[in-house]
Amino acid sequence: MTRQGETRVYVGLGSNQGDRVSHIRQALSAIASLPGVCALRSSSVYETRPMGPQDQPDFLNAVCRFDYTGSAASLLQQLQSIERGHGRQQGGPRWGMRPLDLDILLYGEELIDTPDLQVPHAGLGMRSFVLWPLAELSPGLHVPGLGSVESLRRNCQHFGIRVHEEG
Ligand code: AMP
Repeated sequence: MTRQGETRVYVGLGSNQGDRVSHIRQALSAIASLPGVCALRSSSVYETRPMGPQDQPDFLNAVCRFDYTGSAASLLQQLQSIERGHGRQQGGPRWGMRPLDLDILLYGEELIDTPDLQVPHAGLGMRSFVLWPLAELSPGLHVPGLGSVESLRRNCQHFGIRVHEEG
């Protein structure tokens, strides 16, 4: 249950450059401290092989869930500012190395399709590194337009996913 004016939000975190665990941990505490964020919970940290070019380190990924007061656009701006603080260059190669990647996976039940923001995040239904932590945090979750997280997970390739650090 969320309180009036709050939206239940899921954000995906990824890192495959530098001290990956500390990028993820620091980003989680930065998100928890953002204005409008309340009751943040995070999944275990998972490790997966990279999508696209394979000549790069494996990724660490996690998902966090929180209740948010504010617009999706303002949240995206704040997440991009955290990414920049971790040395992320905007406009790098699509599937290249990155110290920190933050994606809005779900924003309540909303379907958003603007030039800057697509929610549910594109590819969410096919990515083990999103579906495994989402199902860990919220096993009964319904993904708008796609179905239950459990059925998506059953039909998704697992890309060598393993738990790196229990949540
Ligand atoms: P990426 O390199 O995959 O992190 O993509 C960054 C770009 O994706 C940014 O320019 C965002 O405006 C755009 N974007 C579209 N939808 C989302 C989303 N749901 N969460 C985060 N970024 C998004």
